[in-house]
Amino acid sequence: MTQGIAASPGVVIGKAFLFRPEDPNVPKYVLDDANIEKEIARFHSALDITRHQLEDIKRKSEKEMPGGYSRIFKAYIMILEDPMFVDEVHNEIRNFKSNAEYAVMKISNELIELISKIENEYVSERAVDIRDVVKRIISNLLGKERTDLSSLSSEVIVIAHDLSPSDTALMNKNYVLGFATDVGSRTSHTSIMARALEIPAVVGLGNITQRVKTGDLIIIDGNHGRILVNPEPEVVQDYIIEQKKFQDFERSLDVLRDLSATTLDNHTIDLAGNIEIPEEVESILKHGAKGIGLYRTEFLYIRKKEMPSEEEQFIYYKDAAESVAPDPIIIRTLDLGGDKFTSYLEFSDDVNSIMGLRAIRLCLQRQDIFMPQLRAILRASVYGNMKIMFPMISGVEELRRAKALLERAKMELADQKIPFNPNIEIGIMIEVPSAVMIADIIAKECNFFSIGTNDLIQYALAVHRVNEEIAYLYEPLHPAVLRFIKHAVDAAHNAGIWIGMCGEMASDPIMAPILVGMGLDELSMSPASVPEVKKLIRSVSIKEVREMAQKVFSFSTAWEIEDYVYEETTKRFPELTAWISLRSQ
Ligand code: PEP
Ligand code: MG
Repeated sequence: MTQGIAASPGVVIGKAFLFRPEDPNVPKYVLDDANIEKEIARFHSALDITRHQLEDIKRKSEKEMPGGYSRIFKAYIMILEDPMFVDEVHNEIRNFKSNAEYAVMKISNELIELISKIENEYVSERAVDIRDVVKRIISNLLGKERTDLSSLSSEVIVIAHDLSPSDTALMNKNYVLGFATDVGSRTSHTSIMARALEIPAVVGLGNITQRVKTGDLIIIDGNHGRILVNPEPEVVQDYIIEQKKFQDFERSLDVLRDLSATTLDNHTIDLAGNIEIPEEVESILKHGAKGIGLYRTEFLYIRKKEMPSEEEQFIYYKDAAESVAPDPIIIRTLDLGGDKFTSYLEFSDDVNSIMGLRAIRLCLQRQDIFMPQLRAILRASVYGNMKIMFPMISGVEELRRAKALLERAKMELADQKIPFNPNIEIGIMIEVPSAVMIADIIAKECNFFSIGTNDLIQYALAVHRVNEEIAYLYEPLHPAVLRFIKHAVDAAHNAGIWIGMCGEMASDPIMAPILVGMGLDELSMSPASVPEVKKLIRSVSIKEVREMAQKVFSFSTAWEIEDYVYEETTKRFPELTAWISLRSQ
């Protein structure tokens, strides 16, 4: 048995599929006649992606490496456009029905052989350039098309070093029973996505990819963060029983679906759901969440190869708003960057950095991306109870600039006589420590707050949220984090606005009593967590949780607080003890 981090609950037993998107092996297969033209189109789209990548490198090297070095990339781009190469690949695909990767490999090898024979040093050295370009084309063909998890055709447990947001967004849920990865933490987007898709998962396992082969029998215990490889038959039997018990436990909570999250003394909290992809609206309804408290719109960008258009976004937002109406839907504007990064879209590496040009910073700079999204949200706002939320706000200026652009979008729509809700509520994510400290000032300029603990904890404690090596330092119950939360709640209430929480801390039933006790008005979480959190809230009085929320401030460490909170919570909801693993965040 190997212990990792419990990323998504549930128990599954199945065959392993070792997923290695970085594998350089070039597959060879014969195409059906019907797929030949599609294959040629796939080849051209890989050429386009490669061209964009090379142009990007060329631009960068012009800046960073003066002295004509960038000319090499110009030469590379010329190889992509060389009819001798492109036409020959076409012929190979058409005449021999070869898949594009194989065709590219074959033709380039012939080309390399040919020019290697030329007795001119300059020309023969171009073989190296061709190899490099070919590697890029093939990896674009493989990485983006063939080896994604949407093409699985039987049920498997995916074992991977890591899964990118696009891997998980594209994953065929019908065939992925569960997954386990070498790296990651509870708040990495791989884990968030696993909970969203309700797929049991364990992350941060170190070197599981080296210990598992495709076809091995695997048990994933997502409740306790464990994975077992080729277990004995008796152990399998034990886990079949465990699996059934967990399903029964979940089913026992179904009766709460249409009930509100009201305490024993009649205080109601709104429990909403977080969604990443449009299909998840279903699980909002299934688990009895009261609307959508966080729509992570970046996944619309991540799972596609091009920007979703205004029209496309409008339809997604409108459909989601109509599905949950009259309950609210909070659309968060594009929060691209950090670990939610896409390589399809051409951005600088800085977007990838958690402190870099990401989220609202990127949107304020790239209005060509931001304005269509603002217009799409406004247009959809007449179809439900829609609110808009800006991520990563660190100061009032940023909020003012975002609001100014929203006003501009409203004016454009008004000019075009397109309907929208002119009074759409505007909120911000509280996820940067500076926003907490000036929450009283920001609260005067928006209608609501939602605390994003995933980022707030990482920035407050200086602990990267996806790094399993320091996961033990990522403590939601750190006294500093609780003080930040309390400070934001008090500032919001003093200014007369409501405040919710949409970070993963809100999905953890153990946290619910103190969060409610601290005064949060709304909690938004992975939809599957709603029943457990609801059950807890219905088992406590507001009076007792307020006392608990005060008491936690008398402790000095996260561990002391966790022991206290765990004991108090499980007293009220004892069945939880079987399914919760502590200190595995
Ligand atoms: C957060 O930071 O807590 C949050 C909800 O946003 P995301 O996880 O998408 O960064
Ligand atoms: Mg965030």
